[in-house]
Amino acid sequence: MSKQASSMCPAFGAIRNLLRMEDAMPIVISSGDGCMYGHTFVAHFYVANRPIFSPGVSSQMWAKGSVFDELKAMVIEMAEKHQPSLIPICSLCVSDTVGLPFELLPKQIGNTEIVYVPLPAYSVHTHAKAKDIVVDSLVWRLPSQRKARAGVNLIGEVFPSDPIKIDEVLRRIGSHVNTHVPGPRWADYVAMVDGSLNAPLHPFYSESVKRMKMKQGLPFVEGAPVGISGTYSWIKSVGEALKLNPAVVEAVASEERDKVEAAIADYPLNGLTFMVAGYEGHEFLLVRLLIEAGAKVPYLSTSVNTNPLAREEEAWLRERGCTVLYGANFDNEIGALEDHPYDCVIGTTPLCAHAKELGIPSIYYTNAMATRSLMFAEGASDVLSLVMSTYRSKARYDKIARFFSDDGVPKRTYTSWAPTIDITEHLLANAAVAPHEAAVPIAATER
Ligand code: SF4
Repeated sequence: MSKQASSMCPAFGAIRNLLRMEDAMPIVISSGDGCMYGHTFVAHFYVANRPIFSPGVSSQMWAKGSVFDELKAMVIEMAEKHQPSLIPICSLCVSDTVGLPFELLPKQIGNTEIVYVPLPAYSVHTHAKAKDIVVDSLVWRLPSQRKARAGVNLIGEVFPSDPIKIDEVLRRIGSHVNTHVPGPRWADYVAMVDGSLNAPLHPFYSESVKRMKMKQGLPFVEGAPVGISGTYSWIKSVGEALKLNPAVVEAVASEERDKVEAAIADYPLNGLTFMVAGYEGHEFLLVRLLIEAGAKVPYLSTSVNTNPLAREEEAWLRERGCTVLYGANFDNEIGALEDHPYDCVIGTTPLCAHAKELGIPSIYYTNAMATRSLMFAEGASDVLSLVMSTYRSKARYDKIARFFSDDGVPKRTYTSWAPTIDITEHLLANAAVAPHEAAVPIAATER
């Protein structure tokens, strides 16, 4: 049984964020051809066709020690020729094990910052952790905090409209969004030195937050404006941390709370039981919303490891009957699926595939849930309407379960999500096609 969260190479999470920076040219010291292929695939498939760069690596080069010389020459050439704002040096499994002398690289060439980002998979087990390391490494390089400072630094990936909506609410209480990281430019990080408050919206940026506390001396507000009580207390906390007018803050916080409450009332989940299995911290906030809408969520799993930023949210969930499993993997999740009669599952792709075979309405986390806002009233409505319409299509899921069942009994194996059945046989057995149709070759137009 695997002991780590089941996911692709953790460094992919970091590469995705770095490649989204328009003025960065990431160097990835790959561990070999397969590693390079994987990272190139991620760069082109997930990140809008951006290139990554790597010194050549081979057994002979590692043995001779010439990888570092090539890396150094490459950094200097890239900085002088292309003058990007940032060259992050992503050190992966082999280069970090070998221990290349990264401290001998220049830290700056002209206006280009050169930043070492350690991402070996043996110590970085999740995409969330890898993203935290990226922000942590970049924050380490920031200039010192400025004297005159104002506004809120948002930390964490959110839906693109969230910072705009947060800014609109903050302006009503007398503040604004100063910057948002991870952002698409190095300037977004540098702008952090102008902020007067840090707001980590995701519970996994714990290393970055530790670094910010060491470097900046700014106050912090944790949590996010999600759900009835979450929205109210987040706005109130920002107001208190920035010493804004308490009457104005109270009025705006109450108004936003009432709007969320009205939105949630449109989607009463009346005791329906949900299982939520997420991976990057977003799931804590989602469960809060489901519970406030009347759902029971006895189980939440996350690939994030336990950390101080999640403590408050976890306490809130536990008080309401939700058990949180940190560092969960696929085996844990499949096992937990048997523990309660779930009405709906929101989880990773293999978990949802398995739940569907059992006839449980399921929503893919990455494709459907992580691509939505959860914040304020608009986020609550959007997410809960999706959840409600998925639950209401239970009859379609029952049909799937019948299709995958043996004599009406759903298969309950840990690996039944893997397609081991002969589809043609199933179609024939269920009279879904006639024997002569099954034998007909696929028409040219259908290929
Ligand atoms: S960084 Fe390590 S785990 Fe990731 S693809 Fe390369 S060799 Fe594999």
